[in-house]
Amino acid sequence: MNRFDGKTVVITGGNKGIGYAIAERFTAEGANVVIASVEPQVEEAAAKLRESGAAVSGVVCDVTDPEAVRVLYERAFDEFGQVDISVQNAGIITIAKVEDLTEDKWDATMAVNTKGVFLCCQEAIRQMRKHGRGGRLINTASGQARDGFIYTPHYAASKFGVMGLTQSLAKEVALEGITVNAICPGIIKTDMWDYNDRVWGQMLGDYGPGELMASWVQNIPMKRAGEGKDVAGLIAFLASEDADYITGQTINVDGGLIMS
Ligand code: NDP
Repeated sequence: MNRFDGKTVVITGGNKGIGYAIAERFTAEGANVVIASVEPQVEEAAAKLRESGAAVSGVVCDVTDPEAVRVLYERAFDEFGQVDISVQNAGIITIAKVEDLTEDKWDATMAVNTKGVFLCCQEAIRQMRKHGRGGRLINTASGQARDGFIYTPHYAASKFGVMGLTQSLAKEVALEGITVNAICPGIIKTDMWDYNDRVWGQMLGDYGPGELMASWVQNIPMKRAGEGKDVAGLIAFLASEDADYITGQTINVDGGLIMS
């Protein structure tokens, strides 16, 4: 018997990086999984996950589009008969000095990282109410929601917003058996890491490829960057019965980088 046998999990941004590692974890533990992302390559990622024998669908969905989000959750419900767990993982980052931080960059970041999380929570709750057996919502914030970093006020604000909406929704749905929690990953090796290394590296000094991130890793008490599976482990715990009595919380997963 696996921990998530018979459960259906929706994971946004599930085609790569942290989201893909989360999908791997849930499929390994018996869940039916629906991964969603903007690019059509999500279908290929779903096919790869299916090689393990798991039931996995890939859906193209821009989380900033309410209609696309509605279709995503309806498809998950229609295909698997229920939505039990929803992981709001899709996110974007850009890095810019204050004078160069355009309104477009600000709005795009808020749209994906904050509004997108809300829209997915809203639709997931709608589907969870259909079966009335509760559910789990897990929202991805960031260490930057704990400690804002230079040249990313829009990203930090968007992730602070995730913590706020997590607390508010947690209070609203607590009596329905639905928990809502957020997580704050620290420095995790993904495409986003590569972008951060390159752009911050150029802006903060004369860093060669990998050098800036390597120097930041030295600030982590565990002296290593995180991997997708480190984040997936926390998500799986929050989605499990062991976390029945945890809601409205934001938990760091960062090797001790931020201790608050
Ligand atoms: P990646 O850049 O590797 O992946 C981002 C994912 O989000 C992709 O699947 C992408 O899909 C998807 N996505 C982006 N925009 C949209 C959209 N409008 N609609 C649907 N999906 C979208 O990032 P990570 O795996 O590193 O990050 C995952 C989450 O973790 C993000 O929320 C990020 O902010 C957060 N995080 C990451 C940290 C890190 O160090 N890596 C640290 C702290 C937080 P597509 O490929 O189709 O564009």
